[in-house]
Amino acid sequence: MSNTVVQDTVTTVHYTGTFLDGEVFDSSDDGSPLAFLVGHGNMITGFEQELMGAAVGEKREFTLTPDRAYGERDEDAIQQMERRLFPPELELEKGMVLAAHSDQGPLQLHINSIDGDMVTVDFNHQMAGMTLSFSVEVVEVRPATADEITHGHAHGPDGHHHH
Ligand code: ZN
Repeated sequence: MSNTVVQDTVTTVHYTGTFLDGEVFDSSDDGSPLAFLVGHGNMITGFEQELMGAAVGEKREFTLTPDRAYGERDEDAIQQMERRLFPPELELEKGMVLAAHSDQGPLQLHINSIDGDMVTVDFNHQMAGMTLSFSVEVVEVRPATADEITHGHAHGPDGHHHH
């Protein structure tokens, strides 16, 4: 059981994520594999659910509807904001993605359009409303350390702290 994906393991995977049309939106193929602490909200829920019980060396392919990925698009998350609410030195452009802080933690916003002093922003995750397919190979599974479980994230292979 120690070599299968379960709660409180640090699981390392190679993965490729594709949209329904087959376009790759993210992949570990060019880089190092991805390590994450299982069961602490570090990954979209469906991704972890589909990998539960997988053994090292096992490959799984699955498709996640938005409710198991980045959620449905929310039209109320599209809002108009006055230009003066943005840093003056920032050159706003349509399509730009900005990071903001909120009471609920960090969030991303996307500039939809700019009309004079009004900026239309979209707080939806860019992959909200999308069905996503993944091909995943489990490379390594190890028990998480007490520190990792306390912090709620995986640390580096050498035990060093990465934030
Ligand atoms: Zn930490």
